[in-house]
Amino acid sequence: MELTPMMQQYLATKEQNPGSILFFRLGDFYEMFFDDARIVSKELGLTLTSRSGNKDKAPMCGVPYHAAETYINKLVGRGYKVAIAEQIGDPKAKGLTKREIIKIITPGTVLSESALKDAQNNYIALVYEKNEDIVLAGADISTGECFYGIYTGGNRLQMLLDELYRLAMPELLVVGKPSFMDALKEFTDLRLPNCSYTLREEISRAVDDRIIQHFDAATRPDNQEAREAVATLLDYLHETVMTDLTHLNKLTYLDASENLVIDTYTLRNLEITRNLRDGGKKDTLLDVLDFTETAMGSRLLKKWLEYPLLNVLPINRRLDAVEELTQDFALRGGLRADCKEIHDFERLLTRIEVGTANARDLIALKISLMCLPGIQQHMANVKSQVLTECKAGIQSFDALVDLLQRSIVEEPGISLREGGIIKSGYNAELDEYRRIAHDSKAMLQEIEEREKEATGIKSLKIGYNKVFGYYIEVRHSGTDLVPDRYIRKQTLANAERYITEELKEFETKILGAQEKIVQIEYNLFTEVRETIKGQLTEIQATAHEIAIVDVLTSLAEAASTHNYVRPRMTNDGAIDIKDGRHPLVERILTRDLFVPNDTRLNHNDCEIMLITGPNMAGKSTYMRQVALLTLMAQIGSFIPAREAAISPVDRIFTRIGASDDLVSGQSTFMVEMNEVAQILKYATKDSLVILDEIGRGTSTFDGMSIARAVIEHIESKVHAKTLFATHYHELTDLEDDKVKNFCVAVKERGTQVAFLRRIVAGSADKSYGIHVARLAGLPKAVTKRAEDILAALESEQGAEAAAAVAQVAKPSSKAAEPDDMMGSLFASSLSDTLLSLDVMTMTPLEAMNELYKLQEQA
Ligand code: ADP
Repeated sequence: MELTPMMQQYLATKEQNPGSILFFRLGDFYEMFFDDARIVSKELGLTLTSRSGNKDKAPMCGVPYHAAETYINKLVGRGYKVAIAEQIGDPKAKGLTKREIIKIITPGTVLSESALKDAQNNYIALVYEKNEDIVLAGADISTGECFYGIYTGGNRLQMLLDELYRLAMPELLVVGKPSFMDALKEFTDLRLPNCSYTLREEISRAVDDRIIQHFDAATRPDNQEAREAVATLLDYLHETVMTDLTHLNKLTYLDASENLVIDTYTLRNLEITRNLRDGGKKDTLLDVLDFTETAMGSRLLKKWLEYPLLNVLPINRRLDAVEELTQDFALRGGLRADCKEIHDFERLLTRIEVGTANARDLIALKISLMCLPGIQQHMANVKSQVLTECKAGIQSFDALVDLLQRSIVEEPGISLREGGIIKSGYNAELDEYRRIAHDSKAMLQEIEEREKEATGIKSLKIGYNKVFGYYIEVRHSGTDLVPDRYIRKQTLANAERYITEELKEFETKILGAQEKIVQIEYNLFTEVRETIKGQLTEIQATAHEIAIVDVLTSLAEAASTHNYVRPRMTNDGAIDIKDGRHPLVERILTRDLFVPNDTRLNHNDCEIMLITGPNMAGKSTYMRQVALLTLMAQIGSFIPAREAAISPVDRIFTRIGASDDLVSGQSTFMVEMNEVAQILKYATKDSLVILDEIGRGTSTFDGMSIARAVIEHIESKVHAKTLFATHYHELTDLEDDKVKNFCVAVKERGTQVAFLRRIVAGSADKSYGIHVARLAGLPKAVTKRAEDILAALESEQGAEAAAAVAQVAKPSSKAAEPDDMMGSLFASSLSDTLLSLDVMTMTPLEAMNELYKLQEQA
């Protein structure tokens, strides 16, 4: 096969990066060939053509270079890597233009503003296993964060997986053998549905150089494996982004011992930052608490929620700040108003660092920096420690603001190559060229006048033609007066034409002015950008403080909007909540309808709350509420309650709800037992454990026995504070000095039952399941039959029950009336129907529909 030189160049470039789709710059287009072309045409719906680059004609497709970003973002969003090969050197030069890959864009390293979601981090992570340890290294190059974690012990894989779920990164590097990656993938696939994986067989070679290049001594990890993992990740980033990455200058250690550990299941199930429905933010705890005004604040709040604190001291420091902000309305309002004007500093700074910031970015930076003095002023008298520290950390950058104010126009265009970005008055040379470009006519006039006066030639005038450019024309009658400095160029019938030194200079200036203007503007712009770059670290630090202030202000705003109180933090191992409310359910129901509940858990007389009650009574809402309030307290947030004293917990475990689509493929019961096993193994005395109806997935006696054994084990071995909901009434005899029975209060009226949603001491004596079945519209004949069976079962005990069921006379077949079989509420009397409506859970529309039905029935 004969290849043209261009195709040879293409294939050689492609070979350097076989894992990426190659965007090959040809003039005004990026072209893709062969398999890349097939993939891209399919993914982006572009027409596949061919190029006669070789005998077989290469399949090809292309996108115009100015529109490429959108296409690249789409491909990267779908997990592809895109390598960009640009023309290097002068494309007009003879021979084949040189082309080089200038960057590779991958899901974990995109920096294009349009590809990044505002309030979300875009992480890339690396996993590396060595000597029984698993090391995780991660970064978000769009914000400059860099971190690592080390996982050891039997629980290490689980800890890693939980971390990966929190980070939700779109790209994961795995260092090791292909078999290690495959094994890891099996676990992570469902947790990270859109993640793209890359295998690296070996760690980086120059580990220490990389570490020293990026981090100062204080943040360099001691652990050798951690250094290796971080250095390898940095190597990959350098190879990929191919620009300066000095903004990755702070490394933090994800220290599991400093944080409340929330596993994937719990994080998901409590809908802390992502909802169960679509993984979005709506109806999550984050959503309820997020009054942040900046993208940085929003990202940080999410982080606080995913990594709550463990120790009372730092929690109280945050609470002090939140309290101060709830009380000082002027401070809160002022800070919120200022923060509103602040752009996404972190990402702006990154674009400045890697050289992709345009003039609009600099204006955004200026506007943001201009807010800082206001913030400093608002915070002048803050008292709490955290706010005081923030205040001290927030610098204002007056000189930079001044520079930006003088240099960059207020509303610049996007392009840096079209001029119109630098203000006049900033640079004399630029002003001169602009004046030339704009005032060329007037200036010619000026020269003409000046020359007339100097020579005294009345007929003198300036003209222009393509051959000589600008010239001075003098009628023959006036040529006597022409001075020596005039250089004669052309003789006409009645006039002579001359040029002068000045005129020639003017001419080159005018003709080159436009080009020159663009060039000077670009140079001045990059100069300004470089100046900013010199203060990057300081601005970064200020941005970080702003994010903290924004989050604290947001928590204060949430507290006052939703009527939260400050929890008292203790170390006594107890959780004591008066009139607690579920932060999400209360928002949906509105506060008046939500029934508040108390919680008292401690190691003296109530370690385990055994809650019995029918379905729909409010058990799981209550248990979730206890977990959510504890977690909120541990991020330093006020909580929905009348008052509360909370001792921080080390982990929150939950097993709520029947189905878990996260690990589909396994039977629900198997999943449930797996999780219970995890809980029993890793829960400590300081953990909070929430178990909802465990054992439901198997036969009654099986399930009941498992439930009982689990409770006994927790009580005798684990001692974790536990909430255990069950519909097995038989378990209520477990009550003793540590296990206490609770139930959901109900109000009975005739055969009708209303759940009061209030958790009270004692055990429910009926299951009310049949009542719920009736509410759900089961045919009356069926619920009636169920009642008969229940009565028989209740009159018998244990194993004899089965025989009793058989003895209950079956209703005669003709007893089933047609109305009953319809399974609707129409059959019951009007008042029965009315009473059976669960007004608390109905929407106004549902209520209207019911009323309409009742009217028809009457
Ligand atoms: P269970 O777990 O007992 O089956 P849920 O906790 O799912 O019951 O609650 C059933 C319904 O009751 C939910 O739709 C919820 O909106 C409502 N509910 C729960 N607790 C309360 C409460 N304290 N006040 C008002 N409504 C509540």
